[in-house]
Amino acid sequence: MKIPDKVRIGGIDYAVEYENRLMNGGGQGLRGQISYSNATIKLDPNAQDEQGKKQTLLHEIMHGIAEHFDLPVRTDEDTIDKLAKGLYMVIVDNPDMFKSDD
Ligand SMILES: [Zn+2]
Repeated sequence: MKIPDKVRIGGIDYAVEYENRLMNGGGQGLRGQISYSNATIKLDPNAQDEQGKKQTLLHEIMHGIAEHFDLPVRTDEDTIDKLAKGLYMVIVDNPDMFKSDD
């Protein structure tokens, strides 16, 4: 997989951006962050390697999907993280499945 410039989730285009020393409001370091109000997904390029950035992007996408469908797990970090890592495994282990037919 490659990291795109934007990801459409539930009809909303989220810009994928990079920010060094990404933090939450409490000053805690983050690998990634999704903002529903700004329609952005931020990734910290210094906090992780290329594979980590892809997994973090999928993690934030899972938050976005859960938010879109108002799923109870939308703030459950452990479940969101397992879904993201599970999806990453399937993408990496089945690359042909995600290629276009034509
Ligand atoms: Zn999260």
